[in-house]
Amino acid sequence: MKPGELIGCHDCGCLYQWQPLAVRERARCGRCQLELYRWHASGPTKRTDTMVALTLSAVLVFIVAQCFPIVTLQMAGMSSGVTLPQAVAVLWGEGMGVIATLVLLCGIVFPGLELSALLYVALGLRRRVRVPGFNLVLRTVQGARHWAMTEVLMIGILVTVIKMTSLARVVPHPGLFAFGVLTILCALVMRYEPRALWALADRQVPQPDEVGQAGHAHHHEPRHDHQPPAELIACDTCGLVNRLEPGAHQALTPKEEARTNTHCCRCKASLHRRIPHSIGWTWAMLAAAALLYIPANMLPVMYTQSVGGTEGDTIMSGVRLFWNTGSKGLAIIIFIASIAVPVSKLLALVWLNGTAQLRSRAAPLARTRAYRVVEFIGRWSMLDIFVVTLTVALVRFDVLAAITAGPGAIAFGCVVILTMVASAQFDPRLIWDPIDSYGEPQHA
Ligand SMILES: [Zn+2]
Ligand SMILES: [Zn+2]
Repeated sequence: MKPGELIGCHDCGCLYQWQPLAVRERARCGRCQLELYRWHASGPTKRTDTMVALTLSAVLVFIVAQCFPIVTLQMAGMSSGVTLPQAVAVLWGEGMGVIATLVLLCGIVFPGLELSALLYVALGLRRRVRVPGFNLVLRTVQGARHWAMTEVLMIGILVTVIKMTSLARVVPHPGLFAFGVLTILCALVMRYEPRALWALADRQVPQPDEVGQAGHAHHHEPRHDHQPPAELIACDTCGLVNRLEPGAHQALTPKEEARTNTHCCRCKASLHRRIPHSIGWTWAMLAAAALLYIPANMLPVMYTQSVGGTEGDTIMSGVRLFWNTGSKGLAIIIFIASIAVPVSKLLALVWLNGTAQLRSRAAPLARTRAYRVVEFIGRWSMLDIFVVTLTVALVRFDVLAAITAGPGAIAFGCVVILTMVASAQFDPRLIWDPIDSYGEPQHA
């Protein structure tokens, strides 16, 4: 970015001029307090070097974590151990395709995609080139990041291991340690935001043919009304403000706007003033999630077969079982992830979407913060799905003890996806649209 270039706040739509920051400064949105960008201690060269080192190690550890068994269970002379891909295959073989796909995507495909795409971009930036497909790859990083859940998977593995210790002898394997290291590395790699990388690439490797286009917004005076004028549209993906010819979008109805394919001049993502049909789609997703939440809680998520017969466990009876057998910590974790998080997420989204539809002007900052909490905690509902998958894949001792997944788990998996799609579909800028105040950018 260059001084004076316009960027848009992702959460409230405010426009700001990019300015270089002083040591340790962070630029925050004056209205919604979102961090827009920050000062970096190391120069671009050192930053890309560190980025390559971190992502490369994360990719290597990721391969180890996926290829080696996580733990082995030993019971009455029999033993069973699985890798994560094997656990997915077991679930698939049992006809639990929905859960197998969810675990495959959130535990293997998206984390792998995010890390390898980031490594590819980093290697290019280190040599000061834009690798072929730079924009597409960086957009992939941003999309995959939302669904890559290595940290949730790690807690899921720990919960499963603790749960299993009461049932059989648990022997840890390299996969377990690799997942531990991978969680830490992923947390470090998460600091490389695609938005900051687009800005870095602009500085490191300016694109001769596109500088003129991207520079459109330069010549504009900073706008002191928070509502971006119709012709200035901030890109949701990279944050750059694009200038559309006056009237190009103005006369369009929301339906037409959704259909016109206007693309960001920097990252080539399609441009929208607001996410098209945000409120309607959010309602649809929420209604479906609320409906499926009933079978998710009524039907068994797991069946335990032992010498004594077959027993079905719903989410709540599983929590009660942990509580009564003395594993109070596990009971609390499962209760929070599988009951408290989905319910509060549903209620919060109903409140956010409802107030946005009514164009309420009350407590916009509190609502924006609630939206961020929803975005942050939503993924933790996946915990139980990971625990069910690993438990089912591990406890396979024929007549002695076997655990299979139940229909409740499928319904619960769908609830998790639907609430995540609902919060992604909700446009937080709708909270601020009815409000008529303007905040200057703050440097903290
Ligand atoms: Zn803001
Ligand atoms: Zn863009």
